[in-house]
Amino acid sequence: MREYLRKLPRETQDLIGLAGEIASVNNMRAYLVGGFARDLILGVKNLDLDIVVEGDGIKFAEDFARATKAALTRHKRFGTATARLAHNLKIDIATARQETYPFPASLPQVRRGTLRDDLARRDFTINAMAISIGGRDFGRLIDFFSGKKDLADKKIRVLHELSFIDDPTRILRAVRFEKRYNFRIEPQTLLFLKGAVRLKMLEKVQPQRLRDEIILILKEGRPLKELRRIRELAGYGFISPRLAVSKSTDQLLTSIGNCIGWFEGAYPRRRQLDSWLIYFMGLLDSLSLSDTRAVCRKFVFSRGEEKRLLSSKGLERKFAASLGKAKVKPSVIFNLLEPLSYETIILFKAKYKNRHIQKYIEDFFDIYNGMRIEIRGDDLHKLGVMPGPRYKKIFTGVLQAKLDGLVKTKAEELVLIKKLIERKL
Ligand code: ATP
Repeated sequence: MREYLRKLPRETQDLIGLAGEIASVNNMRAYLVGGFARDLILGVKNLDLDIVVEGDGIKFAEDFARATKAALTRHKRFGTATARLAHNLKIDIATARQETYPFPASLPQVRRGTLRDDLARRDFTINAMAISIGGRDFGRLIDFFSGKKDLADKKIRVLHELSFIDDPTRILRAVRFEKRYNFRIEPQTLLFLKGAVRLKMLEKVQPQRLRDEIILILKEGRPLKELRRIRELAGYGFISPRLAVSKSTDQLLTSIGNCIGWFEGAYPRRRQLDSWLIYFMGLLDSLSLSDTRAVCRKFVFSRGEEKRLLSSKGLERKFAASLGKAKVKPSVIFNLLEPLSYETIILFKAKYKNRHIQKYIEDFFDIYNGMRIEIRGDDLHKLGVMPGPRYKKIFTGVLQAKLDGLVKTKAEELVLIKKLIERKL
Protein backbone atom coordinates (compact mmCIF):
# COMPACT_ATOMS: atom_id res chain seq x y z
CA MET A 1 0.00 0.00 0.00
CA ARG A 2 3.04 2.28 0.06
CA GLU A 3 2.21 3.66 -3.36
CA TYR A 4 -1.29 4.58 -2.17
CA LEU A 5 0.08 6.27 0.94
CA ARG A 6 2.51 8.28 -1.16
CA LYS A 7 -0.41 9.91 -2.96
CA LEU A 8 -1.72 11.46 0.27
CA PRO A 9 -1.05 15.12 1.07
CA ARG A 10 2.43 15.65 2.54
CA GLU A 11 0.99 16.71 5.91
CA THR A 12 -1.04 13.48 6.23
CA GLN A 13 1.96 11.36 5.24
CA ASP A 14 4.04 13.07 7.93
CA LEU A 15 1.37 12.40 10.55
CA ILE A 16 1.20 8.74 9.56
CA GLY A 17 5.01 8.47 9.72
CA LEU A 18 5.01 10.06 13.14
CA ALA A 19 2.27 7.72 14.39
CA GLY A 20 4.35 4.76 13.17
CA GLU A 21 7.42 6.01 15.04
CA ILE A 22 5.48 6.55 18.25
CA ALA A 23 4.11 3.00 17.99
CA SER A 24 7.63 1.58 17.46
CA VAL A 25 9.12 3.54 20.38
CA ASN A 26 6.35 2.19 22.61
CA ASN A 27 6.76 -1.31 21.28
CA MET A 28 3.22 -1.31 19.94
CA ARG A 29 1.77 -2.04 16.51
CA ALA A 30 -0.37 0.59 14.84
CA TYR A 31 -2.63 0.36 11.80
CA LEU A 32 -4.76 2.60 9.64
CA VAL A 33 -8.21 1.03 9.53
CA GLY A 34 -11.87 1.40 8.62
CA GLY A 35 -13.12 4.14 6.33
CA PHE A 36 -9.64 5.60 5.91
CA ALA A 37 -8.17 2.35 4.55
CA ARG A 38 -11.25 1.81 2.36
CA ASP A 39 -11.18 5.29 0.86
CA LEU A 40 -7.43 5.18 0.35
CA ILE A 41 -7.81 2.14 -1.89
CA LEU A 42 -10.79 3.67 -3.65
CA GLY A 43 -8.91 6.92 -4.21
CA VAL A 44 -11.64 8.87 -2.40
CA LYS A 45 -10.56 11.83 -0.29
CA ASN A 46 -10.92 11.09 3.44
CA LEU A 47 -8.72 12.98 5.82
CA ASP A 48 -10.10 11.54 9.07
CA LEU A 49 -7.37 9.16 10.16
CA ASP A 50 -8.60 6.08 11.98
CA ILE A 51 -5.82 4.27 13.86
CA VAL A 52 -5.99 1.01 15.81
CA VAL A 53 -3.18 0.15 18.20
CA GLU A 54 -2.32 -3.27 19.52
CA GLY A 55 -1.25 -2.16 23.00
CA ASP A 56 -2.29 0.81 25.12
CA GLY A 57 -4.15 3.09 22.73
CA ILE A 58 -4.54 5.86 25.28
CA LYS A 59 -0.78 6.02 25.98
CA PHE A 60 -0.16 6.06 22.22
CA ALA A 61 -2.73 8.86 21.79
CA GLU A 62 -1.17 10.92 24.57
CA ASP A 63 2.29 10.67 23.03
CA PHE A 64 0.87 11.46 19.60
CA ALA A 65 -1.04 14.50 20.88
CA ARG A 66 2.04 15.79 22.70
CA ALA A 67 4.18 15.47 19.58
CA THR A 68 1.63 17.18 17.33
CA LYS A 69 0.23 19.68 19.86
CA ALA A 70 -3.22 18.23 19.18
CA ALA A 71 -6.17 18.61 21.52
CA LEU A 72 -7.01 15.18 22.91
CA THR A 73 -10.35 13.77 24.08
CA ARG A 74 -9.96 10.47 25.89
CA HIS A 75 -12.58 7.78 26.55
CA LYS A 76 -10.58 5.67 28.96
CA ARG A 77 -13.36 3.16 29.53
CA PHE A 78 -13.33 2.26 25.83
CA GLY A 79 -9.59 2.68 25.33
CA THR A 80 -10.23 5.27 22.61
CA ALA A 81 -9.22 8.88 22.02
CA THR A 82 -9.69 11.58 19.42
CA ALA A 83 -6.89 13.98 18.55
CA ARG A 84 -7.85 17.22 16.80
CA LEU A 85 -5.24 19.19 14.90
CA ALA A 86 -5.37 22.47 13.04
CA HIS A 87 -7.42 22.62 9.80
CA ASN A 88 -10.14 20.35 11.26
CA LEU A 89 -7.93 17.30 10.96
CA LYS A 90 -9.30 14.55 13.17
CA ILE A 91 -7.53 11.38 14.23
CA ASP A 92 -9.43 8.59 15.97
CA ILE A 93 -7.22 6.27 17.95
CA ALA A 94 -8.44 3.03 19.50
CA THR A 95 -6.98 0.12 21.40
CA ALA A 96 -7.66 -3.04 19.40
CA ARG A 97 -10.74 -4.67 20.89
CA GLN A 98 -13.00 -7.62 20.76
CA GLU A 99 -16.74 -7.15 20.96
CA THR A 100 -19.45 -9.58 21.94
CA TYR A 101 -23.19 -8.99 21.94
CA PRO A 102 -24.84 -10.33 25.11
CA PHE A 103 -28.21 -10.27 23.31
CA PRO A 104 -29.39 -9.14 19.86
CA ALA A 105 -29.36 -5.38 19.20
CA SER A 106 -27.67 -4.72 22.56
CA LEU A 107 -24.62 -2.58 23.14
CA PRO A 108 -21.57 -4.81 22.76
CA GLN A 109 -19.34 -5.89 25.60
CA VAL A 110 -15.84 -4.77 24.89
CA ARG A 111 -12.48 -6.19 25.90
CA ARG A 112 -8.96 -5.84 24.63
CA GLY A 113 -8.13 -7.92 21.62
CA THR A 114 -5.82 -8.41 18.68
CA LEU A 115 -6.00 -6.59 15.36
CA ARG A 116 -7.84 -9.58 13.95
CA ASP A 117 -10.48 -9.34 16.72
CA ASP A 118 -10.84 -5.66 16.00
CA LEU A 119 -11.37 -6.21 12.30
CA ALA A 120 -13.74 -9.14 12.88
CA ARG A 121 -16.15 -6.93 14.88
CA ARG A 122 -16.66 -4.55 11.96
CA ASP A 123 -19.68 -4.10 9.76
CA PHE A 124 -18.58 -4.91 6.19
CA THR A 125 -15.55 -6.45 4.52
CA ILE A 126 -14.74 -3.16 2.80
CA ASN A 127 -14.48 -1.52 6.25
CA ALA A 128 -12.49 -4.34 7.81
CA MET A 129 -9.05 -3.81 6.29
CA ALA A 130 -5.95 -2.46 8.00
CA ILE A 131 -2.70 -0.94 6.77
CA SER A 132 0.30 -1.35 9.01
CA ILE A 133 2.16 1.87 9.75
CA GLY A 134 4.87 0.57 12.07
CA GLY A 135 8.53 -0.17 11.34
CA ARG A 136 9.51 -2.60 8.62
CA ASP A 137 5.91 -3.64 8.13
CA PHE A 138 5.02 -0.12 6.97
CA GLY A 139 2.41 -0.10 4.20
CA ARG A 140 1.38 -3.77 4.42
CA LEU A 141 -2.32 -4.40 3.80
CA ILE A 142 -4.01 -6.76 6.24
CA ASP A 143 -7.18 -8.06 4.68
CA PHE A 144 -8.56 -11.16 6.44
CA PHE A 145 -12.00 -10.87 4.84
CA SER A 146 -11.16 -10.05 1.21
CA GLY A 147 -12.31 -6.48 1.50
CA LYS A 148 -10.05 -5.37 -1.33
CA LYS A 149 -11.70 -7.83 -3.70
CA ASP A 150 -15.16 -6.66 -2.61
CA LEU A 151 -14.09 -3.08 -3.25
CA ALA A 152 -13.03 -4.05 -6.74
CA ASP A 153 -16.27 -6.00 -7.28
CA LYS A 154 -18.34 -3.17 -5.76
CA LYS A 155 -19.92 -5.35 -3.10
CA ILE A 156 -21.20 -4.68 0.39
CA ARG A 157 -20.75 -7.88 2.36
CA VAL A 158 -21.12 -8.60 6.07
CA LEU A 159 -18.56 -10.67 7.92
CA HIS A 160 -20.98 -13.23 9.35
CA GLU A 161 -24.62 -14.16 9.10
CA LEU A 162 -25.72 -12.67 12.44
CA SER A 163 -24.20 -9.29 11.74
CA PHE A 164 -27.53 -7.45 11.26
CA ILE A 165 -29.04 -9.23 14.27
CA ASP A 166 -26.14 -8.22 16.52
CA ASP A 167 -26.34 -4.64 15.31
CA PRO A 168 -29.36 -3.66 13.20
CA THR A 169 -27.98 -0.16 12.60
CA ARG A 170 -25.83 -1.93 10.01
CA ILE A 171 -28.95 -2.21 7.85
CA LEU A 172 -28.86 1.56 7.42
CA ARG A 173 -25.10 1.57 7.06
CA ALA A 174 -25.28 -1.03 4.28
CA VAL A 175 -27.64 1.21 2.33
CA ARG A 176 -25.49 4.26 2.97
CA PHE A 177 -22.33 2.68 1.59
CA GLU A 178 -24.18 0.98 -1.24
CA LYS A 179 -25.56 4.24 -2.53
CA ARG A 180 -22.54 6.39 -1.77
CA TYR A 181 -20.18 4.26 -3.81
CA ASN A 182 -22.73 2.90 -6.24
CA PHE A 183 -22.05 -0.67 -5.01
CA ARG A 184 -24.52 -3.52 -4.47
CA ILE A 185 -25.37 -5.30 -1.26
CA GLU A 186 -24.31 -8.82 -2.33
CA PRO A 187 -27.06 -11.49 -2.47
CA GLN A 188 -26.25 -13.43 0.73
CA THR A 189 -25.87 -10.25 2.72
CA LEU A 190 -29.18 -9.08 1.30
CA LEU A 191 -30.83 -12.26 2.56
CA PHE A 192 -29.37 -11.75 6.04
CA LEU A 193 -30.53 -8.15 5.97
CA LYS A 194 -34.07 -9.11 4.97
CA GLY A 195 -34.10 -11.77 7.69
CA ALA A 196 -33.23 -9.14 10.29
CA VAL A 197 -35.95 -6.84 8.94
CA ARG A 198 -38.50 -9.68 9.18
CA LEU A 199 -37.50 -10.16 12.82
CA LYS A 200 -38.21 -6.44 13.32
CA MET A 201 -34.68 -5.87 14.56
CA LEU A 202 -34.82 -2.16 13.69
CA GLU A 203 -37.55 -1.77 16.30
CA LYS A 204 -35.37 -3.44 18.93
CA VAL A 205 -32.27 -1.31 18.75
CA GLN A 206 -31.76 1.80 20.89
CA PRO A 207 -33.46 4.62 18.92
CA GLN A 208 -30.61 7.10 19.47
CA ARG A 209 -28.28 4.76 17.60
CA LEU A 210 -30.71 4.62 14.70
CA ARG A 211 -31.06 8.40 14.80
CA ASP A 212 -27.32 8.85 14.38
CA GLU A 213 -27.35 6.58 11.33
CA ILE A 214 -30.43 8.30 9.88
CA ILE A 215 -28.67 11.65 10.22
CA LEU A 216 -25.57 10.26 8.48
CA ILE A 217 -27.78 9.09 5.61
CA LEU A 218 -29.50 12.45 5.36
CA LYS A 219 -26.08 14.12 5.22
CA GLU A 220 -25.11 12.12 2.11
CA GLY A 221 -25.62 14.83 -0.51
CA ARG A 222 -29.08 14.32 -1.98
CA PRO A 223 -30.26 11.28 -0.02
CA LEU A 224 -33.25 10.28 -2.15
CA LYS A 225 -31.64 7.06 -3.46
CA GLU A 226 -30.80 5.99 0.06
CA LEU A 227 -34.28 6.74 1.38
CA ARG A 228 -35.92 4.85 -1.47
CA ARG A 229 -33.74 1.84 -0.82
CA ILE A 230 -34.56 1.88 2.89
CA ARG A 231 -38.24 2.07 2.06
CA GLU A 232 -37.86 -0.87 -0.32
CA LEU A 233 -35.90 -3.02 2.14
CA ALA A 234 -37.32 -2.12 5.52
CA GLY A 235 -40.16 0.39 5.18
CA TYR A 236 -40.31 3.33 7.55
CA GLY A 237 -42.25 1.71 10.38
CA PHE A 238 -39.14 1.87 12.54
CA ILE A 239 -39.32 5.67 12.40
CA SER A 240 -43.05 5.87 13.04
CA PRO A 241 -45.78 3.28 12.45
CA ARG A 242 -47.87 6.12 11.00
CA LEU A 243 -45.35 7.15 8.44
CA ALA A 244 -46.93 6.81 5.01
CA VAL A 245 -44.40 7.55 2.35
CA SER A 246 -45.83 8.08 -1.09
CA LYS A 247 -44.83 9.40 -4.47
CA SER A 248 -45.49 12.90 -3.26
CA THR A 249 -42.85 12.41 -0.53
CA ASP A 250 -40.34 11.53 -3.26
CA GLN A 251 -41.31 14.67 -5.15
CA LEU A 252 -41.00 16.75 -2.02
CA LEU A 253 -37.54 15.33 -1.24
CA THR A 254 -36.39 16.07 -4.80
CA SER A 255 -37.78 19.57 -4.54
CA ILE A 256 -36.02 20.04 -1.17
CA GLY A 257 -32.72 19.12 -2.86
CA ASN A 258 -33.35 21.76 -5.52
CA CYS A 259 -34.30 24.44 -3.00
CA ILE A 260 -31.21 23.75 -0.88
CA GLY A 261 -29.13 24.05 -4.07
CA TRP A 262 -30.88 27.33 -4.90
CA PHE A 263 -30.29 28.75 -1.40
CA GLU A 264 -26.63 27.77 -1.26
CA GLY A 265 -26.02 29.18 -4.73
CA ALA A 266 -27.87 32.42 -4.09
CA TYR A 267 -26.64 33.11 -0.56
CA PRO A 268 -23.22 31.50 -0.09
CA ARG A 269 -22.40 33.77 2.84
CA ARG A 270 -25.51 33.15 4.90
CA ARG A 271 -25.64 30.71 7.78
CA GLN A 272 -25.07 27.13 6.65
CA LEU A 273 -28.29 25.17 6.45
CA ASP A 274 -28.79 21.97 8.42
CA SER A 275 -29.80 20.28 5.18
CA TRP A 276 -30.31 16.90 6.80
CA LEU A 277 -33.01 18.41 9.00
CA ILE A 278 -34.92 19.73 5.98
CA TYR A 279 -34.84 16.29 4.38
CA PHE A 280 -36.06 14.80 7.64
CA MET A 281 -38.89 17.35 7.75
CA GLY A 282 -39.75 16.26 4.21
CA LEU A 283 -39.72 12.60 5.18
CA LEU A 284 -42.03 13.27 8.13
CA ASP A 285 -44.30 15.51 6.08
CA SER A 286 -47.30 13.18 6.22
CA LEU A 287 -47.22 12.95 10.04
CA SER A 288 -49.45 15.01 12.30
CA LEU A 289 -48.03 17.38 14.89
CA SER A 290 -48.47 14.86 17.70
CA ASP A 291 -46.97 11.97 15.69
CA THR A 292 -43.99 14.17 14.81
CA ARG A 293 -43.59 15.01 18.48
CA ALA A 294 -43.60 11.28 19.27
CA VAL A 295 -40.79 10.74 16.72
CA CYS A 296 -38.76 13.57 18.27
CA ARG A 297 -39.16 12.09 21.75
CA LYS A 298 -38.42 8.53 20.67
CA PHE A 299 -35.21 9.47 18.88
CA VAL A 300 -34.26 12.02 21.56
CA PHE A 301 -33.63 14.90 19.18
CA SER A 302 -32.15 18.00 20.80
CA ARG A 303 -34.50 20.81 21.83
CA GLY A 304 -33.40 22.98 18.91
CA GLU A 305 -33.91 20.16 16.41
CA GLU A 306 -37.28 19.27 17.87
CA LYS A 307 -38.39 22.89 17.71
CA ARG A 308 -37.52 23.13 14.04
CA LEU A 309 -39.06 19.76 13.21
CA LEU A 310 -42.31 20.78 14.85
CA SER A 311 -42.46 24.39 13.71
CA SER A 312 -43.44 23.55 10.16
CA LYS A 313 -46.47 21.58 11.35
CA GLY A 314 -48.31 24.13 13.45
CA LEU A 315 -47.88 27.05 11.07
CA GLU A 316 -48.38 25.61 7.67
CA ARG A 317 -52.04 26.42 7.14
CA LYS A 318 -51.69 29.99 8.25
CA PHE A 319 -48.59 30.35 6.12
CA ALA A 320 -50.22 29.02 2.96
CA ALA A 321 -53.44 30.99 3.47
CA SER A 322 -51.69 34.28 4.17
CA LEU A 323 -49.02 34.12 1.48
CA GLY A 324 -50.72 32.25 -1.33
CA LYS A 325 -52.13 35.42 -2.92
CA ALA A 326 -51.06 38.61 -4.66
CA LYS A 327 -50.14 41.93 -3.07
CA VAL A 328 -49.24 40.80 0.42
CA LYS A 329 -47.49 43.61 2.27
CA PRO A 330 -43.78 43.06 2.93
CA SER A 331 -44.34 43.61 6.66
CA VAL A 332 -46.85 40.74 6.68
CA ILE A 333 -44.39 38.48 4.85
CA PHE A 334 -41.65 39.49 7.26
CA ASN A 335 -43.78 38.87 10.34
CA LEU A 336 -44.66 35.39 9.13
CA LEU A 337 -41.20 34.28 8.01
CA GLU A 338 -38.84 36.02 10.40
CA PRO A 339 -39.69 33.80 13.41
CA LEU A 340 -39.13 30.63 11.36
CA SER A 341 -35.83 28.80 10.98
CA TYR A 342 -34.22 28.93 7.54
CA GLU A 343 -34.77 25.16 7.40
CA THR A 344 -38.53 25.58 7.79
CA ILE A 345 -38.67 28.32 5.17
CA ILE A 346 -36.77 26.15 2.68
CA LEU A 347 -39.19 23.30 3.39
CA PHE A 348 -42.12 25.60 2.63
CA LYS A 349 -40.45 26.79 -0.55
CA ALA A 350 -39.98 23.18 -1.63
CA LYS A 351 -43.55 22.30 -0.79
CA TYR A 352 -45.61 25.24 -2.01
CA LYS A 353 -45.22 25.86 -5.71
CA ASN A 354 -47.67 28.77 -5.68
CA ARG A 355 -45.89 31.57 -7.56
CA HIS A 356 -46.70 34.21 -4.93
CA ILE A 357 -45.26 32.10 -2.14
CA GLN A 358 -42.13 31.46 -4.21
CA LYS A 359 -41.67 35.16 -4.86
CA TYR A 360 -42.32 36.23 -1.24
CA ILE A 361 -39.78 33.74 0.08
CA GLU A 362 -37.19 34.98 -2.40
CA ASP A 363 -37.97 38.59 -1.44
CA PHE A 364 -37.66 37.66 2.20
CA PHE A 365 -34.13 36.32 1.72
CA ASP A 366 -33.15 39.03 -0.79
CA ILE A 367 -34.46 42.11 0.97
CA TYR A 368 -36.45 41.85 4.18
CA ASN A 369 -34.34 39.41 6.15
CA GLY A 370 -31.33 41.71 6.32
CA MET A 371 -33.18 45.01 6.52
CA ARG A 372 -32.11 47.32 9.37
CA ILE A 373 -33.42 50.66 10.58
CA GLU A 374 -31.09 53.55 11.20
CA ILE A 375 -32.40 55.02 14.43
CA ARG A 376 -30.79 53.80 17.62
CA GLY A 377 -31.62 53.90 21.33
CA ASP A 378 -29.73 57.17 21.58
CA ASP A 379 -32.13 58.85 19.17
CA LEU A 380 -35.11 57.80 21.28
CA HIS A 381 -33.39 58.94 24.44
CA LYS A 382 -32.81 62.37 22.94
CA LEU A 383 -36.51 62.55 22.17
CA GLY A 384 -37.24 61.94 25.86
CA VAL A 385 -38.31 58.28 25.69
CA MET A 386 -37.06 56.38 28.72
CA PRO A 387 -35.37 53.03 28.00
CA GLY A 388 -37.76 50.11 28.46
CA PRO A 389 -40.12 47.81 26.55
CA ARG A 390 -41.42 50.81 24.60
CA TYR A 391 -38.14 50.97 22.67
CA LYS A 392 -38.77 47.58 21.14
CA LYS A 393 -42.32 48.53 20.14
CA ILE A 394 -41.14 51.71 18.47
CA PHE A 395 -38.28 49.95 16.64
CA THR A 396 -40.68 47.28 15.40
CA GLY A 397 -43.13 49.94 14.20
CA VAL A 398 -40.36 51.74 12.30
CA LEU A 399 -39.05 48.53 10.75
CA GLN A 400 -42.54 47.57 9.58
CA ALA A 401 -42.93 50.99 7.97
CA LYS A 402 -39.54 50.67 6.31
CA LEU A 403 -40.38 47.20 4.97
CA ASP A 404 -43.56 48.59 3.44
CA GLY A 405 -41.64 51.50 1.89
CA LEU A 406 -43.31 54.16 4.03
CA VAL A 407 -39.99 55.48 5.33
CA LYS A 408 -36.63 55.38 3.63
CA THR A 409 -34.16 57.77 5.25
CA LYS A 410 -33.16 58.35 8.84
CA ALA A 411 -34.93 61.74 8.77
CA GLU A 412 -38.16 59.99 7.74
CA GLU A 413 -37.69 57.43 10.48
CA LEU A 414 -37.38 60.28 13.01
CA VAL A 415 -40.55 61.93 11.76
CA LEU A 416 -42.37 58.63 12.15
CA ILE A 417 -40.98 58.13 15.65
CA LYS A 418 -42.30 61.48 16.72
CA LYS A 419 -45.74 60.48 15.47
CA LEU A 420 -45.52 57.14 17.29
CA ILE A 421 -44.53 58.95 20.49
CA GLU A 422 -47.47 61.31 20.14
CA ARG A 423 -49.72 58.29 19.71
CA LYS A 424 -48.17 56.96 22.94
CA LEU A 425 -47.02 53.77 21.27
P1 ATP B 1 -17.59 7.57 6.73
O1 ATP B 1 -16.79 7.66 5.47
O2 ATP B 1 -19.04 7.77 6.51
O3 ATP B 1 -17.04 8.32 7.90
P2 ATP B 1 -16.61 5.24 8.09
O4 ATP B 1 -16.42 3.87 7.51
O5 ATP B 1 -15.39 6.00 8.48
O6 ATP B 1 -17.50 6.03 7.06
P3 ATP B 1 -17.61 5.45 10.76
O7 ATP B 1 -19.06 5.47 11.15
O8 ATP B 1 -16.77 6.64 11.04
O9 ATP B 1 -17.63 5.07 9.24
O10 ATP B 1 -16.96 4.18 11.41
C1 ATP B 1 -15.57 3.89 11.33
C2 ATP B 1 -15.35 2.39 11.21
O11 ATP B 1 -15.87 1.75 12.36
C3 ATP B 1 -16.09 1.76 10.02
O12 ATP B 1 -15.31 1.81 8.85
C4 ATP B 1 -16.33 0.35 10.51
O13 ATP B 1 -15.20 -0.43 10.32
C5 ATP B 1 -16.53 0.53 12.00
N1 ATP B 1 -17.94 0.63 12.36
C6 ATP B 1 -18.69 1.76 12.51
N2 ATP B 1 -19.94 1.47 12.87
C7 ATP B 1 -20.01 0.12 12.96
C8 ATP B 1 -21.05 -0.80 13.31
N3 ATP B 1 -22.27 -0.39 13.60
N4 ATP B 1 -20.73 -2.10 13.31
C9 ATP B 1 -19.48 -2.53 13.03
N5 ATP B 1 -18.48 -1.72 12.68
C10 ATP B 1 -18.74 -0.40 12.65
